[in-house]
Amino acid sequence: MAEKKTKPSPKPRVAMREQPAIERVGNFSEVALGYTREQAMAEAARCLQCRKPACVKGCPVEINIPGFITRLAEGDVRGAYGILRETNSLPAVCGRVCPQEVQCEGACILGQMTDKASGEKLEPVAIGRLERFAADTFAAESACDELTGKPVCAMPRDGLKVACIGSGPSSLTVAGYLSALGVQVTIFEALHEPGGVLVYGIPEFRLPKATVGREIDALRAQGVEIRCNWVGGKTVAVRDLLNDGYQAVFIGVGAGLPKFLGVPGESLVGVYSANEYLTRVNLGRAYDYPAYDTPVTRGKHVAVIGGGNVAMDAARTALRLGAERVSIVYRRTREEMPARREEIHHALEEGVHLEMLCNPTAYVGDGKHRLAALRLQRMCLGAPDASGRCRPEAIPGDVFELPCDQAILAVGTGSNRVLLQDTPEVTLNKWGYIVVDEETGETSLPGVYAGGDIVTGAATVILAMGAGRRAAKAIARKLGLQ
Ligand SMILES: Cc1cc2nc3c(=O)[nH]c(=O)nc-3n(C[C@H](O)[C@H](O)[C@H](O)COP(=O)(O)OP(=O)(O)OC[C@H]3O[C@@H](n4cnc5c(N)ncnc54)[C@H](O)[C@@H]3O)c2cc1C
Ligand code: SF4
Repeated sequence: MAEKKTKPSPKPRVAMREQPAIERVGNFSEVALGYTREQAMAEAARCLQCRKPACVKGCPVEINIPGFITRLAEGDVRGAYGILRETNSLPAVCGRVCPQEVQCEGACILGQMTDKASGEKLEPVAIGRLERFAADTFAAESACDELTGKPVCAMPRDGLKVACIGSGPSSLTVAGYLSALGVQVTIFEALHEPGGVLVYGIPEFRLPKATVGREIDALRAQGVEIRCNWVGGKTVAVRDLLNDGYQAVFIGVGAGLPKFLGVPGESLVGVYSANEYLTRVNLGRAYDYPAYDTPVTRGKHVAVIGGGNVAMDAARTALRLGAERVSIVYRRTREEMPARREEIHHALEEGVHLEMLCNPTAYVGDGKHRLAALRLQRMCLGAPDASGRCRPEAIPGDVFELPCDQAILAVGTGSNRVLLQDTPEVTLNKWGYIVVDEETGETSLPGVYAGGDIVTGAATVILAMGAGRRAAKAIARKLGLQ
């Protein structure tokens, strides 16, 4: 009798090269080094090309994932890049910083299967790494030329003008989508460099500025104008933009106002918000002081308070600036930390300590207005709260001091009212975030749209991009383009 043929088990996921932990703690160069062409093709070949691809449903901007992976498996990087750019203006960024494990890769069918021979769970296709490979290999700066044969992608249509305030991923997505349809998009940014958190928050070793710059240059090549040093609500007003002939205004100003704990000692020298600390180091290039004239205190013993990506970035930055000991202080356990798994893993590899189930109750000074320690209350986990996570509860009397000369607070951010105070017609919710129509992103002021962190509160790059895409589609419909 003929032997029944069984399908071979899919191969294991292809590992990505990275700088060894021992080397990278001494530099600001990128940690993850990406796939080679052979590795990318081998990883792409693992994709099952599902008829109902769950991965696409898991992606907020609905990238045609099996489509771009097929092209990669065939070695057609240009084709893969073209598919990515249909729905994503920033693939090199997303390939690096999206929480793929809970989005496309979290939904990947391969990741739900077990290996028949070993009985072990299979790993999902490394969609983010493949996205990064395609975008890096097919350098974004030549994208316009290569895809259309023209230096500018679409012929600008007379009189169609849209303004974006803020230049983070939500606005960049609006700009990419609309300029491809021929709309003249102008972005007004308060800082001296565009990119939002991608340049002032996420450090160089995780997302090189040159990578973000390349994708922004591609948008410029597509006809997007970016004006820096323009503060919405001060040097430019939403009303004026509408009166100046912009048919729509998109507000993508993020949520960059740092939150503080409000405990004693917060004004001691050595206490920073992560926002200020990371902006000084990343955008001000404090790590290259005195070549760049933006100093930042270099702590010896650093405590970073919080458990998200921002906390991981601050802790790893402090290590690279020469700290001897860096501890992450978090009031729940490692399992509940909201940071991406990969970031926690990298931070631990580099030597960051975790002080779990601890809540700061005071910053303790040295008598000369400088920070000397953090007073911590030990916690335990109680019943789940509204967020579904177990509520941290104080263990009475269990208090100790963690010596530190620098504390960096990464416990979230809120809405910055500079722009919003100027536009009282735009309705805000009780936390100060903009209320929008969920389908279109339109605010209570007709013609004014909003998306990203200023609507949702601090979230993710890809969710900000998803919001930008929804708003851009609605604006395009309003302009009669779709
Ligand atoms: C340190 C850090 C690490 C992070 N890591 C990750 C990660 O790994 N993965 C991930 O998915 N997400 C991460 N995030 C979150 C993610 O970066 C944000 O959710 C996303 O950038 C929000 O995009 P946005 O378009 O809403 O605005 P932002 O990126 O916040 O950009 C807003 C822009 O608007 C400008 N602006 C503000 N007010 C005005 C004004 N009045 N006039 C003109 N311009 C103005 C700001 O200067 C800024 O450039 C991280 C955030 C931080 C802070
Ligand atoms: S779900 Fe996974 S295996 Fe299926 S098409 Fe998407 S990436 Fe490929």
